[in-house]
Amino acid sequence: MAELKNYWQNYINGEWVDALEGERIEIENPATAQIIAEIARAQKSDVDRAVVAARACFTSRELYNMRPVNRGALLFGIARHLTEMADEIALAECLDNGKTLAGGKNEAMAAARYFTYYGGLADKVEGRMIPLGADYVDYTIPTPFGVSAQIVPWNFPLQIAARSVACALATANTVVLKSPELSPLSTYFIAEACHRAGVPKGAVNILSGYGHDCGAALVSHPGIDHIVFTGSVATGQSILHAAAERVIPCVMELGGKSAGILFRDADVDQAVNSTASGIFTHAGQVCSAQSRLIVPKALQSQVIDKLAAKAKSLSVGPGIDGHDLTPVISAAQADKIEGMCLAASQAGAEAVTGGRKRDDLPGHFIEATIFSNVTPDMTIAREEVFGPVLSVLTYDDPEEAIALANGTDYGLCAGVYTRDLATAHWAADRLIAGQVFVNEWFAGGIETPFGGMKRSGYGREKGQEALLNYVQTKNVGIRITGGGGGRPGG
Ligand code: NAD
Repeated sequence: MAELKNYWQNYINGEWVDALEGERIEIENPATAQIIAEIARAQKSDVDRAVVAARACFTSRELYNMRPVNRGALLFGIARHLTEMADEIALAECLDNGKTLAGGKNEAMAAARYFTYYGGLADKVEGRMIPLGADYVDYTIPTPFGVSAQIVPWNFPLQIAARSVACALATANTVVLKSPELSPLSTYFIAEACHRAGVPKGAVNILSGYGHDCGAALVSHPGIDHIVFTGSVATGQSILHAAAERVIPCVMELGGKSAGILFRDADVDQAVNSTASGIFTHAGQVCSAQSRLIVPKALQSQVIDKLAAKAKSLSVGPGIDGHDLTPVISAAQADKIEGMCLAASQAGAEAVTGGRKRDDLPGHFIEATIFSNVTPDMTIAREEVFGPVLSVLTYDDPEEAIALANGTDYGLCAGVYTRDLATAHWAADRLIAGQVFVNEWFAGGIETPFGGMKRSGYGREKGQEALLNYVQTKNVGIRITGGGGGRPGG
């Protein structure tokens, strides 16, 4: 099996470098609570270096002047190198993030796929010719913003970094990316793949540090032109304040409290299996997790029994041993989740199964948890838990189910379980969410646009729509004659 190094540097201006202040951050394996590596802790001075490098690369126009098909080929090269390193990446995702090796390998392959997908689109970002009559030629140029600052969360750092870096490079922006301090290791493989693929120096810079200093220094840096943030609503709000100071655009991919509605005609077993995958994948640490299920009152006990049986059947343990329910990222996160479960019980919800930490295991594990008797006013029904915790709510008529699903501040995902296409369309049209899954939670892919409504954010990542967030339209209007319908003089 591949081995991981025990010290990781930042990647700035095409070189692996220590932090200028010389400090390091210890990285813990959440499955064992053991320290597995150290990283160079980037702070403001390192951010300055990285932004200067990204600015110099952008100003040189090296990426912009390239024929777009050649920029695409660069991205294909990055994808090839990521694929070659897939086993090492899988191990990194397993050891610093808690995933299974198969889950880590999926991350590597998905990251590579983002680079091939956007590499293929690099030469298809086109402007328009706008007819203004014989005396003018008018056209638009999709123009890169400049230096894109990208901030990534700890749950799927590699995939999330890959989707943003690939879009930025395809459109000739340059990047400074801050990886998450809790699980940064896999994102460094993007830097390594860029290095091996011959990406120009300074085009991609990857560093890691704490949010309050490194992240804050990056998003408020006067040398950046664009922000892509994926993370919590609270951090997103503070970043939006920094962006407002300098009037720069942001893509905001924030949290969710997504609900699936089970209609009376649904295939209950299919809905239960899909719901279990929607909430227990990566221990529920998924922004698009299905954290609520809304069921007809008449089906409540049948559905809850099946869900509880499914939850109890999951093996709990380290991802490296191939368990079903893997750890949450940290002791603090485990405490927060257990605290929310205890508060839910005190508020009158019933933990049909789970609700506690697994203190018998050395890492940070939470039991697969299902709450019944949940009412829409409860915190457990409204706030993101970011753990393996499902709230089941009930309804009498379909309009009420839609109101319950739409009744939180979030609007990331929603789901519908039904055998009837008309019901699926009726519900999908009314659900306030960036994506609606019918009969399979997480249905979609790299090709499908992803993003939030309401407090889940704005802008879209993934799919062709994402590229629109990385270019701004410049219109060029040309008077070509002195009048007279374009007839050449002389
Ligand atoms: P977080 O907001 O705590 O941290 C996200 C990133 O922001 C980290 O890299 C962190 O270091 C950085 N950060 C923290 N404070 C900062 C500041 N003041 N300035 C700049 N950067 C700062 O989120 P998290 O706990 O890492 O991730 C979980 C959250 O992310 C959940 O709410 C989840 O729903 C959301 N998420 C959303 C998506 C999506 O695509 N919509 C995907 C994954 C996760």
